[in-house]
Amino acid sequence: MSLSERDQLFELIAARRDEMAHLTADLVRIPTVNPPGDVYEDCARFLGDRLAARGFAVEYLRAEGALGDSDRYPRTNVIARIEGAGKGPCVHFNSHIDVVTAGEGWTVDPFGGEIRNGRVYGRGTCDMKGGLAASVVAVEALLDSGIAFPGAIEISGTVDEESGGYGGVAWLAERGYFSRPRVDHVIIPEPLYKDAVCLGHRGVWWAEVEVKGRIAHGSMPFLGVSAIRGMGAFIDKVERELYPRLAQRRTDMPVIPDAARQSTLNFNSLHGGLPEQNYAEGFPAALVADRCRIVLDRRYLIEENEADVRAEVVTLLDALKAERPEFDYTLRELWSVAPTMTDPGVPLVRALDRNIAAVLGQPARHVASPGTYDQKHIRRIGNLEHCVAYGPGILELAHQPDEYIDIDDMVAAAQVMAGTALDLLRGET
Ligand SMILES: [Zn+2]
Repeated sequence: MSLSERDQLFELIAARRDEMAHLTADLVRIPTVNPPGDVYEDCARFLGDRLAARGFAVEYLRAEGALGDSDRYPRTNVIARIEGAGKGPCVHFNSHIDVVTAGEGWTVDPFGGEIRNGRVYGRGTCDMKGGLAASVVAVEALLDSGIAFPGAIEISGTVDEESGGYGGVAWLAERGYFSRPRVDHVIIPEPLYKDAVCLGHRGVWWAEVEVKGRIAHGSMPFLGVSAIRGMGAFIDKVERELYPRLAQRRTDMPVIPDAARQSTLNFNSLHGGLPEQNYAEGFPAALVADRCRIVLDRRYLIEENEADVRAEVVTLLDALKAERPEFDYTLRELWSVAPTMTDPGVPLVRALDRNIAAVLGQPARHVASPGTYDQKHIRRIGNLEHCVAYGPGILELAHQPDEYIDIDDMVAAAQVMAGTALDLLRGET
């Protein structure tokens, strides 16, 4: 695009600063808390009504039968599409409309949408209703600028990202909404800083290990086999053998924060023995625990593969079988996601880089996320490689009390989004 066109577009967006803040506040006041997935329909309709009034074709898609879907909590997604002048690519902005529970520690109303000192406060401002508002205003300004473009632009509000995305992007991707020829480039305005393009994320492997013992009277533990002691031996082995190995593995992916550039393992939960409340409070069962379960949350690198990640744990468990008489276990795999990273040389990333430099006057950073987000479904189910996250929020504020979004950051990100969309639609690479 020409310099004057770009400047004109950026000025139009800067003039809508207040509108962007108020749109964010309005979205925050619709408390789409997940779980259980409250008022999704209201939020989808709010977004759809606004875009329909601007000439978008709007579709409401309820993920019937998806995890959590019911008449009380319908999983309603919205996709709005507007055609440009003539044939061309489609640029899609995808935001999740669900937010996590407010939790404790707030000094403002988490669903009040308070605007103060250049910020909008509330649950979901940063993750990611501020990013959604920025993308909506960016696209509306592009339409109002009168600048001609071929192709199409889509904006979607999808549900359940915070619980895996199965009633949202995954469900839509299975039905072709995130594949060619319908869509060519996807930008997800997740909060990963206005100066950074997020290329992808690490992999996930969740598994439950259950150590089995043999029940006996607690006064004669020598007659049984304690599953809790067996689990203790497993945890000790992980501490001594696995953690040091994981700490040495560094990825070439630009994962942030820096400590997440290595392989990590978290013990998500641990349960052993009978629940104490089977008896009077504080009066536990006099039993040797015959079961002890632990849930492992292993985040792995693009240089690793899932089979090796699994084998590494199985090797430790089998070694314990050899070392400890009567050690027995089962391993149940719960969930996994492969690591994904978009090639930084694709037109989508180059256009974002160029527009970040134009808006902020500094080179773009390339980052990768420590945890997964809906990009995984677009890559794996939609088979679309041209997908990244780019949005105005500060990652560390996500899911925190007193979450906020900086309004100037939203304006800058909206300028980058509008300039990027225009470059991609016109095939300027
Ligand atoms: Zn998010």
